[in-house]
Amino acid sequence: QEEVFKKIISHSKEYGFVFPSSEIYDGLSAVYDYGQNGVELKNNLKKYWWDSMVLLHENVVGIDSAIFMHPTIWKASGHVDAFNDPLIDNKDSKKRYRADVLIEDHLAKLDDKIEKEVQKAAKRFGDSFDEQMFRETNPRVLENRQKRDEVHSRFAKALNDNNLEDLRQIILDCEIACPISGTRNWTEVRQFNLMFSTEMGATSDGAMKVYLRPESAQGIFVNFLNVQKTGRMKVPFGIAQIGKAFRNEIVARQFIFRMREFEQMEMQFFVVPGEELKWFEHWKKLRMEWHQALGFGADKYRFHDHDKLAHYANAATDIEFEMPFGFKEVEGIHSRTDFDLSQHEKFSGKKMQYFDPELNKSYTPYVVETSIGVDRMFLSILAGSYCEETLENGETRVMMKFPAELAPVKLAILPLVRKDGLPEKAREIMDDLKFSFSCQYDEKDSIGKRYRRHDAIGTPFCATIDHQTLEDNTVTVRYRDSMEQERVAIDSLQNIIAQKTDL
Ligand code: ATP
Repeated sequence: QEEVFKKIISHSKEYGFVFPSSEIYDGLSAVYDYGQNGVELKNNLKKYWWDSMVLLHENVVGIDSAIFMHPTIWKASGHVDAFNDPLIDNKDSKKRYRADVLIEDHLAKLDDKIEKEVQKAAKRFGDSFDEQMFRETNPRVLENRQKRDEVHSRFAKALNDNNLEDLRQIILDCEIACPISGTRNWTEVRQFNLMFSTEMGATSDGAMKVYLRPESAQGIFVNFLNVQKTGRMKVPFGIAQIGKAFRNEIVARQFIFRMREFEQMEMQFFVVPGEELKWFEHWKKLRMEWHQALGFGADKYRFHDHDKLAHYANAATDIEFEMPFGFKEVEGIHSRTDFDLSQHEKFSGKKMQYFDPELNKSYTPYVVETSIGVDRMFLSILAGSYCEETLENGETRVMMKFPAELAPVKLAILPLVRKDGLPEKAREIMDDLKFSFSCQYDEKDSIGKRYRRHDAIGTPFCATIDHQTLEDNTVTVRYRDSMEQERVAIDSLQNIIAQKTDL
């Protein structure tokens, strides 16, 4: 799996999906640029989300709020005081870690040990293997399970009590069993705020400290009444937004999974107090269906319900996708109560209430949020689509099996040879179709090489123009996944592709 992940990263670069930022200056950690194919895939992904949330829901509308906001917003939201990660340094290696991530990794390693033990035994005993019995009686499994449970409960307690010294102690103790760096020379654990700040304007009193938003949600909350009033929205209703967010992540790793500049697609759904858990379940179901409609297989996704809730939430779950490095969160669904609106009312001194004409009373709505990272979703699509196939001639075909709707290029238009009027005919077809979907004209190299190139960027259809095309206005359509080819009339291309690119 580690190998596959490396291949996905290098494939992304080689085929213009994702480049490290500022590469000629040796890069900038945890910042990435999207290339010519990446930006198309990303735009298609955002459209898939926007259409399903805004276009298909009469009671959801969109906004686009600014990245800079009044700094008091971040005081009200709790980010200035509490948007922290616990940080620890190893004094010898001078490496910095997130204390909680170190412990989570250690727990994952113990889990791994247990699973490997079970797999080994399953292989050894074959059909007669009783897995449950083995898990309950094998001394090595029991020992690791006990260790795991101990660390887990100490960890949960330390997080709950916000006890930084305990976190450090767990790291020191774990190191005995599983060395992280080979030394016990660690600093204390301290809190590190993840918000980036900068200065705005220059007045005689000095400039104002402002933050780059760490989430797009607050832009929705502070505009709640603007949208409700101007759009004559009735509770329940939602406001959706796609936009950049910034977090000074301590451990930036796993490619575009954890970035310092990233993009979110968020929707805040305002409901009558008391109805939030019903809506939470509603959106939980809908969001999972949205993911599964992509066709990667239901077993690639799972819910992870939170045991420990943030102080403002009364229910929370993550939708996780099976990345090459395990199941990881791509989307969070949170029932945020009236925390945000009430806080803004308190800090701004402005009423944030809604008058409900049906209930004939005013109240502060409760909020159910769906929040998904564009880049994480993008990574899940790369991981779900990357595939290698051995062909009959022994060659390897590398292919991005993107859902056709998301593919950066829908149709490659390929004149068989660069003469006899074939390029001109191909251009004619291109000029006709390019207004309907993204087409790419390609005449360089042999047809086989061109097919391979389009497999690698995930183009679902190729149309080849040959001498027969000049006689009867038909082309060969070649399908990416099956490599099957079929002769069709030029006039039917539009329909064939439109039908298959509709999610
Ligand atoms: P994590 O626990 O992985 O740090 P989170 O729980 O802090 O994530 P939220 O604050 O709920 O994340 O943000 C909502 C979504 O935004 C996440 O599900 C994820 O897809 C995305 N996201 C959050 N942080 C990052 C990041 N540093 N890089 C890329 N995407 C991110």
